[in-house]
Amino acid sequence: MPGSLKFWPRAAAWSLVLIVAFVWPHWTSAAAASAPAAAQFKHQFGPDFLDAYWRLHPDDAISVGYYRVAKRLIVPDMAARVQLAAFLRDSLARLHGIDAPSLDANLRTDWEVLDNQLQGELWRLNEYREWEWNPAEYNVAESFALLLNTDYAPLEERLRTVSARMERIPAYYAAARLNIRRPTREHTQLAIEQSAGVRGVFGKELEAQIAASKLAPGERQVLVRRIAAAKQAISGFATWLGDQDRRLAAGDARSFRLGRDLYERKFALDIGSGGTAEDLYRRALAEKERLLARMEMLADQLWPKYFPSRAPPADRLDKIGVLIGKLSEQHAAPADFVATVRQDIVTMNDWVTGHGLIALDPSKPLEVRVTPAYKRGIAGASVDAPGPYDPGARTYFNVTPLDELSPESAESYLREYNRWMLPILVIHEAVPGHYVQLLYANKSPSLIKSLFGNGAMIEGWAVYAERMMLESGFGNDTAEQWLIYYKWNLRSVCNTILDYSVHVLDMSEGDARKLLTREAFQSAEEVAGKWRRVSRTSVQLTQYFAGYSAIFELRERLKREQGEHFDLRGFHQTFLGFGSAPVRIIEMLMEHPAD
Ligand code: ZN
Ligand code: ZN
Repeated sequence: MPGSLKFWPRAAAWSLVLIVAFVWPHWTSAAAASAPAAAQFKHQFGPDFLDAYWRLHPDDAISVGYYRVAKRLIVPDMAARVQLAAFLRDSLARLHGIDAPSLDANLRTDWEVLDNQLQGELWRLNEYREWEWNPAEYNVAESFALLLNTDYAPLEERLRTVSARMERIPAYYAAARLNIRRPTREHTQLAIEQSAGVRGVFGKELEAQIAASKLAPGERQVLVRRIAAAKQAISGFATWLGDQDRRLAAGDARSFRLGRDLYERKFALDIGSGGTAEDLYRRALAEKERLLARMEMLADQLWPKYFPSRAPPADRLDKIGVLIGKLSEQHAAPADFVATVRQDIVTMNDWVTGHGLIALDPSKPLEVRVTPAYKRGIAGASVDAPGPYDPGARTYFNVTPLDELSPESAESYLREYNRWMLPILVIHEAVPGHYVQLLYANKSPSLIKSLFGNGAMIEGWAVYAERMMLESGFGNDTAEQWLIYYKWNLRSVCNTILDYSVHVLDMSEGDARKLLTREAFQSAEEVAGKWRRVSRTSVQLTQYFAGYSAIFELRERLKREQGEHFDLRGFHQTFLGFGSAPVRIIEMLMEHPAD
């Protein structure tokens, strides 16, 4: 029975089938008849598959809390790429041997997400080839920092893992040098800038951890020797990149701009909306105009209240900008920042529950904490969720106090996250944004979707949550709250316009600055950060608007179709119940539930 082949790892398959067919013919036919696609999928893409996957991606494994393979550091040479490509092709062949349309909703979405993940990796390896042109790909710091800062095992055990992993760092950077040809200057410089931080992971804190440990003297010596060799390899790589950068200055660098073909393909794989990037770009342009028109109306309405004795500027962008500046004066005092965020979380929880927007899980409270030292660096707030391999762990809402900032930077930050903006940030990151989405994703237990979830769905939900909260009356429906909200929303719309314009339409840095400063009311600091991001990443910036517009349109369509029977709370809970799958797939499953 060729069907039963798929139950077994390839090497063992033939012999098993022959033996089984010969000795127990009844058993085989019965098994084949009762072997639905679901069993096949669960068997082939269960724990053994993931273990094999993590062996080839040990850095990612560490970041999701799968420490079993943490001693491995993969030297990124040709042999490693050949091995990975073979694994991806083999897995795809087995995946496509499964009758996907007959799977239930949970497995069907798993199938789609996995298919996309494996195809995407293969494409990156063979077509995108970032390993050739992005020196910043070669960075060992994060996984070491995680092993040293996460308390998943006793210190000695973690240090032994770090020591084993460290042995291949010199070979790692030697392979990196052989891979790189014609890199971009932006990524070359990024890698040089990061090298001090990479060396820092093997610095004083690690020395203190070794001193405080009960490692045997022999183990210590080996570790200390490996640290010295690692630091030397990292410095050597940075020096070599410096030489490359001087050579590239003569004009041989690759452009950081992807160009239309690579961009569209990457967009299709990463966003998974089924539409084109060009289409989304056009919709973003129209949405920007719509938002600016709304903002002008609100500005006209608010003007006399804030400037009773002054005529508004004739130019609409000037008028909106002046008003936003005025409203930004109302913000928390630096010392109250953390307490304000804490209070906002309580407010959102009560609001969401009181207005019946979505059910929360009181047994899984979100814990607000001051951001731990090793995660600092960016001011603000973020959700720190447990890895998929540790779903029982707490979820934290990290808030970074502003006391490390200069008074000017703290003021600029607080103006941005003013009285009306800070609640939107809390909605986005926590309730009912990322944190609530995660709660629901964890309820449909799917490792595959937790691990390889769709970024556009995840970001799109958080952006949708902001609007949905305001629609429900949060912020008292004031013109101030809507104006500041639109400014925030304009940011994700302009992210899409910027990313596409820069990577496909060759937009200059000056034009990008004009777009963000003038038409999106962003500060010089924010604009500089955004340019850095768009010249070092691609497509990522489009996921907010891509996901948001898809979710919003789906909801509006269902509202029209279901009329008075439409139930907002039901929509939210059903939508999130499918886990972090692409919106397109969720939409399909909501309309045609599997039997
Ligand atoms: Zn101020
Ligand atoms: Zn987000």
